[in-house]
Amino acid sequence: MEQQKYDVIIAGAGPAGTTAATLLAQYGHSVLLIERDQHPRFHIGESMLPMSETVMQRLGIDWETGNLKKSGADFIDEVSGRHTYFPFQGKYRTFQVERSVFDKRLFDNAIENGVIARQQEQVVNAQCSASRVSIETDKAQYQGRYFIDATGRDTLMGKKLRSIDKIKNLGKFALYKHYKLADNNAANELFKHGNIKILLSSIGWIWCIPLTDGRLSVGLVVQKNTSGDLKQAALFEQSLQASPYMSELLIAAQTLSEVQIEADFSYRNTQRYGQRFACCGDAAGFLDPVFSSGFFFAVKTAEFIADQLHKGLASGKEGDEYLHQQGDAFYQKGFKTMHLLIERFYCSNIVENLFFESDRQLDIKEEIVALLAGDLWQEHNSFQQGLLTGRSKTDW
Ligand SMILES: Cc1cc2nc3c(=O)[nH]c(=O)nc-3n(C[C@H](O)[C@H](O)[C@H](O)COP(=O)(O)OP(=O)(O)OC[C@H]3O[C@@H](n4cnc5c(N)ncnc54)[C@H](O)[C@@H]3O)c2cc1C
Repeated sequence: MEQQKYDVIIAGAGPAGTTAATLLAQYGHSVLLIERDQHPRFHIGESMLPMSETVMQRLGIDWETGNLKKSGADFIDEVSGRHTYFPFQGKYRTFQVERSVFDKRLFDNAIENGVIARQQEQVVNAQCSASRVSIETDKAQYQGRYFIDATGRDTLMGKKLRSIDKIKNLGKFALYKHYKLADNNAANELFKHGNIKILLSSIGWIWCIPLTDGRLSVGLVVQKNTSGDLKQAALFEQSLQASPYMSELLIAAQTLSEVQIEADFSYRNTQRYGQRFACCGDAAGFLDPVFSSGFFFAVKTAEFIADQLHKGLASGKEGDEYLHQQGDAFYQKGFKTMHLLIERFYCSNIVENLFFESDRQLDIKEEIVALLAGDLWQEHNSFQQGLLTGRSKTDW
């Protein structure tokens, strides 16, 4: 067993783990960050929200370099011909990022800030007692004062504590693929604005995310049961062919990957913190990606936890099992808001009655844009208040 005792040991070096690690190292704490994979590693989730920019600034990351600026989100129903555009015009900017490259930058930046990192090492168990944490990996054992679970959808602590609560009624699974587009009018228009396009489909929705160098991420999120006869790759291709916009965009496009699948979608971790541990990012909860909120919640929860934990470590009170109670209530408000918005997207006529009508009600449009930008903790957003006090299919 390694004798050195770290202030904080973090499992998982995605956006959540690297953000928590960097901020804690900036505060002067000793941090060990353990990643199962090796950066650069592929990760889906390329469309970002403006309110992540404040965290990027604290990390010292210039996220304009190498990424495509995203001006907003387009929602399109090709059958009815209706569409709406939600522009991001606030003071923060956002981007479409290639995650393998960007996550490596976040990882390298953590090391530059003094984090000790191990790669190709998997955390297999975490014992958190009143006096210390003991972390077991497939290669070694480590001692520390605090453990952060940032293992993403692997949810190390959630599985250990059996605290993962699936959320029904949202998307069921996603199929996705990457392309390099040929030079044509549709492609040029898409890259000029850099918007994410959400195309409504009879079985769910399609995302269309332009990346740099003419590359494109396309995904199909399936909510309704399909006939079952179609193999996943065929279902994906058939859905794209049924879309006039995608058919035009993909003329002469080069395929860069096979169709990939991500299933078991949305869930909450009902035990996100406890004695000497806290979970951040997807390890705390994951929502259907229709409003691109995953990366934002990852870096934001990591920020909440790092700031609170710093206070605990500095005062020797990090063993208090309620250390994160207040910060977690704050997170809950944001997560619940986004969940309810997604639930309305799938289970109500919000797109038809509100999104497509929003140019007639500009005050409501502004409030929706604020939520889509990740501005989830405003005092006076009446649209958000309506969501939070309205009915839900999930018990909160
Ligand atoms: C289909 C789909 C589309 C998405 N689209 C978007 C989008 O457009 N925009 C957006 O913001 N979000 C999107 N997301 C969500 C986004 O990808 C995630 O929310 C985000 O990556 C979460 O970051 P994280 O750091 O919590 O987890 P991750 O990025 O998954 O990082 C976790 C890390 O932990 C490592 N790890 C796991 N287990 C262990 C272990 N036991 N020991 C050590 N290391 C371990 C993993 O290798 C990984 O590197 C999408 C998700 C899906 C599934």
